[in-house]
Amino acid sequence: MTRQKLYELACRTLRPLKLGQFGESGIVACALESTSGRVFTGICIDLPCALGFCAERAAAAEMLKGGECVVRRIVTVNRDGRILPPCGSCREFLMQLGECNADAIVAVDAGRDLPLAQLLPERWN
Ligand SMILES: [Zn+2]
Repeated sequence: MTRQKLYELACRTLRPLKLGQFGESGIVACALESTSGRVFTGICIDLPCALGFCAERAAAAEMLKGGECVVRRIVTVNRDGRILPPCGSCREFLMQLGECNADAIVAVDAGRDLPLAQLLPERWN
């Protein structure tokens, strides 16, 4: 799937929802394509006290549920449709799903894609 199609899917996956007094979900969404060509999506859940999780990990969980663990391409957007690079935890999370994910193409902004390996220099392992 093209970057543009993943971007459009991520935008369609956005689903802002208030949760309780301080929480919300669906304000960031992710679409990723595995190396088999299947596509998975996820949304963030933001709750107080650092609870919740990122859209990238939600999409990765869907991929794992589908029996796959290697990402070909990943695009994440905020509620305004701006592409966001994965946070440091999600970069590490994706890499720990398998070193093959070093080659995953990550959309870091509107005009740039980088392999995950370049977003995680000087690996600890
Ligand atoms: Zn994250």
